[in-house]
Amino acid sequence: MDYKQTIQKWRGDDLNVIPEPETKYHHTLQQQMVDQLGGFTSPLMIKLFQPAPSEEKGPNMIAIWENAEKRSRDLRLRMRPGKAFKKMFPWLTQVELAQIGDWYRELMLLNDSEIVIKSSCEAKDFKLAYAGEQAPMANPRDAEDRKNLGYSCMRYSFDDLPAHPAEVYASGDFTIVWAEILGKIAGRCVIYDKKAGPIYGVSDTALDALSTHVYDKLGAISFDEHDGWEGARLRKIEYHGGLIGPYLDVEPQSASDHGSHLVISYDGNLELDEIDGTLGGGCTCHECNSSIDEEECSTDHNGYSYCESCWSDLFSYCESCDQDGPRDESHEVFMVDRHGTQSQYWCESCRNSDASYCENDGEYWRDEDTCQTHDGTTISVKDYEDNYTTCCLTDEIYHNDDVAPLANGEGDASVEHMRSDGEWKENEAGAWENVQSELALVA
Ligand SMILES: [Zn+2]
Ligand SMILES: [Zn+2]
Repeated sequence: MDYKQTIQKWRGDDLNVIPEPETKYHHTLQQQMVDQLGGFTSPLMIKLFQPAPSEEKGPNMIAIWENAEKRSRDLRLRMRPGKAFKKMFPWLTQVELAQIGDWYRELMLLNDSEIVIKSSCEAKDFKLAYAGEQAPMANPRDAEDRKNLGYSCMRYSFDDLPAHPAEVYASGDFTIVWAEILGKIAGRCVIYDKKAGPIYGVSDTALDALSTHVYDKLGAISFDEHDGWEGARLRKIEYHGGLIGPYLDVEPQSASDHGSHLVISYDGNLELDEIDGTLGGGCTCHECNSSIDEEECSTDHNGYSYCESCWSDLFSYCESCDQDGPRDESHEVFMVDRHGTQSQYWCESCRNSDASYCENDGEYWRDEDTCQTHDGTTISVKDYEDNYTTCCLTDEIYHNDDVAPLANGEGDASVEHMRSDGEWKENEAGAWENVQSELALVA
């Protein structure tokens, strides 16, 4: 069974069922499935089936909406994870399903595993805590002093720089405190003189563990309650005539040069509000090598900077995953919403996973807005409305030219089907009558 058939089977007779987004069932797991399994599966399947660890049996069992009808009756079906994944993604191979099963077990293990808190003043540990392999995200709630690690602009590897920007903290004045789950980074916090920076974490559990350590055990003051890091020393690391430096979350976001090191100060002329890993006073465009003012500088996921004109030449925004991607891999995808037919520009990976090519239109259409005809051709819902009919005898989709009305007024049916069936004949008015039922009447 393929993707389309799975959707049709789930929806049942009513082709128009498009489920509302729902957050009732373990939104975290579903978000993680989309994040981690994106290419494999589809957010739509997760929307339809709403998988969640069983409320009664725990994560060893997964509960799903088996189909639209069960959902309308509020009946959740509980089954082993492997079986649930096979129901949701029946087109995957055994190997792919086994991989999803392993991923799920690992995720549940991570959620259950102990969080280990570590701390250090060394450069290599600042780099590890900032750019080391990250534990899966579990969408923590933001607060004044607690932030989602996924939004940290300093979490990248910054491989094009001679040192990670966070290594600048390793002057001896700062401590890095970080959380690990099974050896992966789950959160971090930089502290100077018992004054904490914001705490970043992948989950509420990790943020709770870090908060307890930073505030209760180390006695540090929270980021929104102290007067900043003025007077703290930073390492001075030169690069291309400029200096490496992190984006500073704490005021003041400036420093002065003291020869062998930098000192954070309100009247310093070096700006610590860049996200490209260098200190203010501009950056260099990775594409055209021109010097750019900091206001006009955009940074990609590798930490490379671009001038405005190179950026708009090279990148384009994907309206599906909300990320900038290469412009030459941006594609128009059509869909139907309450305003009628619309189109958006999507990145290649979103288009490949969530849209299909409709030959008749010569366009890509969002999967939710396509259906399949009797011979397996994918068509858009617009094309369906304009040119196709669902045969009332076979429930399959045929071109309007290939159907004819039934004499009994029950609808239109496939001429090809009625011919090969042998039970039908065309009358003078061009409608088709059932020979079998006539014979039955005569008899
Ligand atoms: Zn440029
Ligand atoms: Zn995308």
